[in-house]
Amino acid sequence: MCGIVAVSGTPEAARIAYLGLYSLQHRGQEAAGIASFDSATGESSRVREAGLVSDALNEEKLTKLPGDLAVAHIRYSTAGGAGLKNAQPIRERYRAGHLALVHNGNLTNANLLRERLFQEGALFQSTIDSEVIVHLIARSRAETPDQQIADALSQLEGAYCVLITVDDVLYAARDPYGYRPLVIGTLPGGGLMIASETCALDIAHATYVRDVEPGEIIRIRNGEIESVACLPGFVAEPQPCVFELVYFARPDTRLWGYTVDRARRAFGRRLAQEEPARGDIVISVPDSANSAAVGYSEQSGIPFELGLIRNHYVGRTFITPTQAGRDFKVRMKFSPVREVLAGKRVVVVDDSLVRGTTSRALVNMLREAGAAEVHFRLASPPVRWPCFYGIDMPTREELIASGKSVEEIRDYLGVDSLGYLSPEGMVDCVRENGETYCVACFTGDYRAPLVDAEAGLAMSSHC
Ligand code: SF4
Repeated sequence: MCGIVAVSGTPEAARIAYLGLYSLQHRGQEAAGIASFDSATGESSRVREAGLVSDALNEEKLTKLPGDLAVAHIRYSTAGGAGLKNAQPIRERYRAGHLALVHNGNLTNANLLRERLFQEGALFQSTIDSEVIVHLIARSRAETPDQQIADALSQLEGAYCVLITVDDVLYAARDPYGYRPLVIGTLPGGGLMIASETCALDIAHATYVRDVEPGEIIRIRNGEIESVACLPGFVAEPQPCVFELVYFARPDTRLWGYTVDRARRAFGRRLAQEEPARGDIVISVPDSANSAAVGYSEQSGIPFELGLIRNHYVGRTFITPTQAGRDFKVRMKFSPVREVLAGKRVVVVDDSLVRGTTSRALVNMLREAGAAEVHFRLASPPVRWPCFYGIDMPTREELIASGKSVEEIRDYLGVDSLGYLSPEGMVDCVRENGETYCVACFTGDYRAPLVDAEAGLAMSSHC
């Protein structure tokens, strides 16, 4: 989780980055920050605050971020990882100049690297794995920032997209597996924008140019984009995260070659073929399952209705850091529309089932509202394995599908029938050009080595 933005080659870069953060708010709500660099004065600035973008940043703070280069970050907090000390951008001064860094992803060898750096005398100010990258850059014996960054990134395992500024030069890089998205666009008045999702380009009227490729390091200087290095560890089958399409990315984003809304509709249509249900209406669990439910309705011919209303002033349940907060938000978040549901056989489409606690409460709510039957359909396969690559998920024991059969889950949820999209069906929907994906949380097939986990070290706080 987390979202990152960079803007270069335009006055008031921080204001454009701020717009980008607004579009990426769904990727995290714990903290937001921007670091800027002014090529004319050599001045480096940073603001980072806890809360939503609208709370963390305002006009007064943006005036403190002058310059033609900015990197920005929106933070999602993992358990134990909250607090302003873990907010980004990280900003330091080292021998090559002012350095600022933002990171999305999760390093799977961060604790091993951290321990080594610690033994060598490094002092850490946060508990996030991103700070490890800064230390590796600063301690590299290579001569130029290009080489120092390549040297640092080549020591990392796992998932990362990073945006780094060294004085007036911007670098963008993506891990060799390409787990997380990173796209480049051109701004209408000149200048470049790089962001986690294309929806951040759209808000600034930037034109999508291309993705940062897996394993690529890009340097942007004086408006010129140059691919300066390819990270070692060529991966024949890139592993972009399919869960970004299933749940996490915004529906209007174009990701891995597909508009997210279209991909989710395709998941819903395929789900209707694989798991038909006798229903009078199809409803979605808003908002992330809206597109899949429309697809299910299109394929099945069962009318789509708005049976659940979401309170938008409460955050997304799945990304609430603590269990207590999650339970509270379930009750606050959804309201049933009784006139739509009463006496109906209801097909409920959701994007995924993680713990099952939210869905169980929802099913109760639907029955109380008069639904005659509840048929639950999931537009992704059973989530049986945790994610080590940057999507926050509970432990294996807490994942309902890791310890229960489909029948047991059906009974736990209290539904009349339960059906999941198959792993093959899901990937088939988004494989028009032979694309490959990470599906490890569904299959347990982890491709990037889980170095810390295999060494018995806990995962570090990530972004
Ligand atoms: S394990 Fe799942 S959530 Fe994590 S990167 Fe792979 S597909 Fe995405």
